[in-house]
Amino acid sequence: MKISLKERIFIADAFKKAQGEKAVVAGWIHSIRIVGGVAFIVLRDRTGLIQCVVKKDQNQEGYNLAKDLGSEDVVAIKGTLKESKSSLGGKEINIEAMEVISRSEKPVPIDPEDWEKTNLATRLDWRFLDLRATRNRLIFEITDAAINAMRDFYRNNGFIEVFTPKIVAEATEGGAEVFPVVYFDRYAYLAQSPQLYKQMMVVAGFERVFEVGPVYRAEKHHTNRHLTEYESVDIEMGFIEDHEDVMKMVEKAVIHTIQAVSQRFGKEIEQYFKIRLDSPKDVPRITFREAHKLLDEHGVKQPDPNDIDSEGEKALGDIVEKEYGSQLFYVTEYPWVKRPFYTMRKENDADYTKSFDLIYRGMEIVSGSQREHRADILEKQIREKGLKVENFNFFIKVFRYGAPPHGGSGLGLERLVAQMLGIKNIREARLLPRDPERLTP
Ligand code: ATP
Ligand code: MG
Repeated sequence: MKISLKERIFIADAFKKAQGEKAVVAGWIHSIRIVGGVAFIVLRDRTGLIQCVVKKDQNQEGYNLAKDLGSEDVVAIKGTLKESKSSLGGKEINIEAMEVISRSEKPVPIDPEDWEKTNLATRLDWRFLDLRATRNRLIFEITDAAINAMRDFYRNNGFIEVFTPKIVAEATEGGAEVFPVVYFDRYAYLAQSPQLYKQMMVVAGFERVFEVGPVYRAEKHHTNRHLTEYESVDIEMGFIEDHEDVMKMVEKAVIHTIQAVSQRFGKEIEQYFKIRLDSPKDVPRITFREAHKLLDEHGVKQPDPNDIDSEGEKALGDIVEKEYGSQLFYVTEYPWVKRPFYTMRKENDADYTKSFDLIYRGMEIVSGSQREHRADILEKQIREKGLKVENFNFFIKVFRYGAPPHGGSGLGLERLVAQMLGIKNIREARLLPRDPERLTP
């Protein structure tokens, strides 16, 4: 029987109706059971699940149709709301009419009701089915809420959102970790970060800019925290005293974001991810050198004296949480050898930089620094890093016509979301992840 979708309401709204009221709902069949002349259909839409019931002796046609249905078929149902203690949500729909809108092939390759029994690679192969699981779709509703909060925060603090090129002529961060693209009769690269452009916009007089956009890293490592394409929330601000000004801004943005997500999704996060999302209050700062000392004292070996590896970050997270009671903290003043050429070095302590990483639940989610805005020093630093000055002349000249001191940072959106939800593999927090092996779907 034909049912007009104009009358369709969300399942969440159907639950608001009283006993005896009529409703049209439509969605995917989550599960179906036939027991002694009664068909029980659990219907799913974006807003939830509702049980719909049709009895053979009351609606022969509907019952016959139901008997022929299976998981993931798309149907529209018209019926009457009925209080029912035994049903999920305390209500069900007594089916008066039903229309099959689209059938699913059988068997369905993965079961959205029971996604956990499928391995991640297969889930990603069938991502559109995997995302039908409430828990998996929630990750992206939370991502949406997070980015919204982040954008609000920066706008309210005088930043404007900009959109910079993703096809670029030079590797912005230096190094070989770039994807070349054929650009007509020559090669270009996919942008590793909007770094140089956002600095350019500060100097152009925008003073405070942010950008949310994809960045591309041709990093071959197979870890649970690296993607070759991820969403970066970049900021850059002018007229700062030092990197601490940037850190204050960034920590407020992150705390505001966690708060907003926790307020709106706190209950669901506990239910589906079995983790409490508390918004951090204090954000301790430890210098890189102190961090190494702490790790040393706790017997955590670090292979590179100029770096902190992921094990080190994790261990530091535990130590800082125990000693300071905070899951969010800064490590500051990283060694010059590990930071990009545009980073400002410390005065009278040139082996170290005015830089920081923000660590959340034991993982780096943000890197930032004050930038070198003095053209001559910048040029020297480019040379010192072994980069070709002629490739960066377009950038150096930006700082020859009046450039304020400035700084900024980049935050990995998938890492923030994964850490908020206690997700172990960052791929789960990217809609359609790209890694060295995966280029589809
Ligand atoms: P890591 O040391 O963890 O590899 P990085 O220091 O090389 O990261 P940055 O260039 O500092 O990365 O990037 C800024 C932020 O972007 C990081 O703090 C992180 O949140 C995120 N990020 C960096 N690389 C990746 C990646 N390959 N996949 C996902 N997120 C990333
Ligand atoms: Mg970093």
